[in-house]
Amino acid sequence: MKIGFIGLGNMGAPMAANLVKAGHAVTGFDTAAIEVEGAATAASAAEAAAGQDVVITMLPNGAILRSVAAEVIPAMQAGAVLLDCSTVDVESARAVAEDAVAAGLKALDAPVSGGIGGAQAGTLTFMVGGTEEAFSIAKPLFDIMGQKAVHCGPSGNGQAAKICNNMILGVTMIATCEAFALADKLGLDRQAMFDVVSTSSGYSWTMNAYCPAPGVGPQSPADNGYKPGFAAELMLKDLRLSQQAAEAADADTPMGAAAAALYATFVEEEDGKGRDFSAMLPRFETRHRG
Ligand code: NAD
Repeated sequence: MKIGFIGLGNMGAPMAANLVKAGHAVTGFDTAAIEVEGAATAASAAEAAAGQDVVITMLPNGAILRSVAAEVIPAMQAGAVLLDCSTVDVESARAVAEDAVAAGLKALDAPVSGGIGGAQAGTLTFMVGGTEEAFSIAKPLFDIMGQKAVHCGPSGNGQAAKICNNMILGVTMIATCEAFALADKLGLDRQAMFDVVSTSSGYSWTMNAYCPAPGVGPQSPADNGYKPGFAAELMLKDLRLSQQAAEAADADTPMGAAAAALYATFVEEEDGKGRDFSAMLPRFETRHRG
């Protein structure tokens, strides 16, 4: 396939490189003038998008996606697919898809989980919103860049799945960290705590697969000085997106709201920025109730 790839940052560059390796003709563009080996480099987003079968975007947020989409939609050939893999608000995803379809294109929102490691290894999970037809055109590309692609329904539903998943993740990480800090104060050994909880009803991905306590459970960022991993500021971004969506949909999400507030304090007023999101545990260790 002929593919335009716009946004070649930490995630986009390795995803584009995997498409090149699989034999696709990729033309990239990034405002930071990043180049990907084996891909052509365009001078603008519109140039990267012209004449392509699929145009992939991997950008920081919804406002940037909207401005890039306004530039590329008129440049794309009729029937081509605009495939956004960024994490953005549901509203922006739906607005961009609507504009693309009105211009005779197909549109998919397909945010990912799996992080930079997953982008490099081609093992991302894609959560996809859009038509069945557009999904089946993009499926071979999902298979190269990832290990799983779930079609979640119409446009915006990929973003909806992503922010609901990450709201659970943020809330669960905080619950796991505060429970470890309480266990410490009660004199309960961390290994014993792990051995019980990981095989009892309090188990979760954050406890069993990504344990925030160093030296306990499988290898995780906690064993590497809380170097991300998944940075606390990216978790904050996703929690804020879930709160924005909850507000727009009139959904009551008190735990999500509490998690967003805690990560905001951690990132903006404490030492959370640049640390893995599991560094909530050392934060709780030093705190008191009153
Ligand atoms: P990044 O900041 O490394 O990359 C974004 C790239 O977009 C940058 O290279 C930037 O120069 C480029 N860019 C900005 N404006 C542009 C424009 N107008 N035209 C062309 N290029 C432009 O971010 P990332 O870590 O690659 O994340 C990308 C997206 O993936 C985000 O939405 C993020 O939330 C999501 N995501 C990231 C991770 C992760 O672990 N990093 C995991 C899952 C999802």
